[in-house]
Amino acid sequence: MQINPYYAELPANYLFRDIELRVNAYLAHHPDERLLRMGVGDVTRPLPRVIVDAMHTAAEELAHADTFRGYCPENGYQWLQQRIIDSFYRPRGICFEPDEVFIGEGAGSDLGNLSELFDQKNTVAILDPTYPAYVDANIMAGREIVFIPCMKENAFVPELPKKPVDIIYLCFPNNPTGVVLTHDQLRLWVEYAREHKSIIIFDAAYEAFVSEPGIPHSIYEIEGAKEVAIEVHSFSKSAGFTAVRCGYTVVPYETGLQAMWMRRQCTKYNGTAYIAQRAAEATFTPEGQKGIADNLNYYRETATVIMDGLKHMGYEVYGGTNAPYIFCRAPHGWDSWTFFDHLLQQCQVVCTPGIGFGRCGEGFVRFSAFSKREDCIAALVRMKEKI
Ligand code: PLP
Repeated sequence: MQINPYYAELPANYLFRDIELRVNAYLAHHPDERLLRMGVGDVTRPLPRVIVDAMHTAAEELAHADTFRGYCPENGYQWLQQRIIDSFYRPRGICFEPDEVFIGEGAGSDLGNLSELFDQKNTVAILDPTYPAYVDANIMAGREIVFIPCMKENAFVPELPKKPVDIIYLCFPNNPTGVVLTHDQLRLWVEYAREHKSIIIFDAAYEAFVSEPGIPHSIYEIEGAKEVAIEVHSFSKSAGFTAVRCGYTVVPYETGLQAMWMRRQCTKYNGTAYIAQRAAEATFTPEGQKGIADNLNYYRETATVIMDGLKHMGYEVYGGTNAPYIFCRAPHGWDSWTFFDHLLQQCQVVCTPGIGFGRCGEGFVRFSAFSKREDCIAALVRMKEKI
């Protein structure tokens, strides 16, 4: 037996594990301190009642012989695929067949697994900074990665690759910078992919946070994108499903990859939980939409509180308007971990160091609007007094 050698090339620790270690070390010496956690990208608002009721009903169906169900279809129930097409895509003038919409357990696994469709020899372009899972999945597969720097100088908007690339991961609204692309900016990437015969994997996990007009919610709003883009969605951040687990990935026939992905899923994935699919369906009901909108508005208001508070103190901040994340430049020329340590030790505030998302995230930290509002307000007061 020989192990996959590429695992040795992965960073030793996962970012959030590093943070946990520092936080635990601090708490070991200060057991009575109450930490104000503004780091994690996990939701905190409870699910709307209609979604929980849908899960109860689905669970009850499984208790009766006449409504019991076994394995679900590998790529999801057609009633959910059609609901996604009718509710999300059709109003934007985009059409798909149900077989192009693959229901899954969330964006994380599909984003990693999609890499299996492509040859190891492909060159992969990944934004820097970005969600670390794309990098790790491609290191595990032994591919060459080209990082596309997103820096303060270009307002964290990526420029097209200087050398040809085959696979491009884009994430907008971006985690961690909170930056979005306009239609014109996204069109450049679609045109690039068409010209170079590349494929774009578009991570739309934070699409529901887009608030400003003129910002695309889907890459398929760009003409010609169906031939060159796979789009990955999640109910995690839009509807609070981080524990429920449900998402969907669109692989258009025009990419030439739909049959391959179907084949892969039929072999390696035995379908998403029936209860989770019924919960996802309930997000599209009027009560579901209202409950989700209320939660999203709560997070948006928290983002505004954080942004305004930081700006008022003179911090340089990005994102926050169309995303739940605020990317904040460290003061005094500090690096990310120095700012992290000051926030932890002087203010008992936990953030996420920008360097954990890539080299170009150095000198920044990410604050999350999924945090409790009262913690954010208290954190801002402490920062004003102590940093
Ligand atoms: N994509 C991005 C950009 C994320 O930030 C996350 C989670 O934080 C995911 C995907 C994974 O989401 P899911 O819960 O659907 O696996």
